[in-house]
Amino acid sequence: MNRRSFLQVTLASAAALVGYSVIANAEERRRGGGSPGATPSAAAAGLSALVDPNDPAAKAVTYVHVNTQVKDKNLQTERTGVKFKDQKCKSCAFYVKDKEAKVNGKTAAPCQMPFATGKAVAAEGWCTSWAKRA
Ligand code: SF4
Repeated sequence: MNRRSFLQVTLASAAALVGYSVIANAEERRRGGGSPGATPSAAAAGLSALVDPNDPAAKAVTYVHVNTQVKDKNLQTERTGVKFKDQKCKSCAFYVKDKEAKVNGKTAAPCQMPFATGKAVAAEGWCTSWAKRA
């Protein structure tokens, strides 16, 4: 293969890759997973399900899908200057905001705490590990 042929093959391959990428992105958006500014689908974000609040590991940290479900007054305390009503997963340092998606009809995202591995926590949720986002 001479230099000219090599360059032609290389350019054709690059063009094919760009074309494939454009088509793949369009298909992802068509399925509701990738349009800019839109909440991606759970599948597109790699999230399968919400954490089950009845799971023993979730119960150990009193995880709930909505922070108003916390009935224990002793837990409804201000932390690092944040009132309890404003302590939600979406304002927590462990909430992976850039992977936020709709999961079972709720806005949710992965949480970096081990009890939530492979699952998503609800944006409006809460647990005793809540920590103020920097
Ligand atoms: S650590 Fe933070 S993001 Fe994770 S469940 Fe608890 S409050 Fe929600």
